[in-house]
Amino acid sequence: MEITRTDPKPSQPNAVVGVDLGVKSLAVLSTGQVIPNPKHLEAVQKTLRRLNRQASRRIGPDKRTGQNPSSRWRSTQNRVAKLHTRVANARRDGLHKLSTSLCRTYGTIVLEDLNVSGMMHNHRLARHIGGAGMAELRRQIDYKTTWSNSRLVIASRWYPSSKTCSDCGAVKAKLPLRVRVFRCVECGCVLDRDLNAARNPAALVDEIPGGQSTASCAGTLNKPDGNPCKTRFARAAGTATGRPAPTGAGQRRRHKATTA
Ligand SMILES: [Zn+2]
Repeated sequence: MEITRTDPKPSQPNAVVGVDLGVKSLAVLSTGQVIPNPKHLEAVQKTLRRLNRQASRRIGPDKRTGQNPSSRWRSTQNRVAKLHTRVANARRDGLHKLSTSLCRTYGTIVLEDLNVSGMMHNHRLARHIGGAGMAELRRQIDYKTTWSNSRLVIASRWYPSSKTCSDCGAVKAKLPLRVRVFRCVECGCVLDRDLNAARNPAALVDEIPGGQSTASCAGTLNKPDGNPCKTRFARAAGTATGRPAPTGAGQRRRHKATTA
């Protein structure tokens, strides 16, 4: 059935907000607002472990011997499934509320093109990244911006949003994940790491020519230019990395949007 959606327009149509997605806090907005990570999965981990241990003591199905699962095993599995459903529902509820409020408030939303499925390869972080639902949040913002007529800009995955000073534009060479506070060596500003990362892409929007609501538009400006071995200072003209602005369409490169 085709229907015409009548969604309210964003309340601040000219406002630009940068959103830094993460694990420590689910999202940090460039306005300074922090959306904490509710960690629904962590909250039931203990119960889940106990139930799975209980199930392992009961007689489960066995393909080789043709053993049917016992009714006690089934009842434990039912409890496990119920817990997982509850976690998934709670996570979905929070993500929907966040993405709706973002799309109904700000005219332009800047997200980073995160390689979520790639980050899931890190087995120490995989559960936390999956539990946060960053890829799902981006998917929801993507379609909800078309409903509310706001604009979604995806910053390139190679744009050094965490390492760039949001005040003066100096780019740090290295910033390990454990460093939670950003200290600029040039201008001396001290900011929370995630807030700094959220402010940068928001400033980037003005530099994107006619930034449309496509997943590939911002992948054009900031190409990876190798691993810098020392801090770069000036934001001379053009890109945030301090390199001269690319001239002509020939230098642009389009990223294929990967939906994770
Ligand atoms: Zn600085």
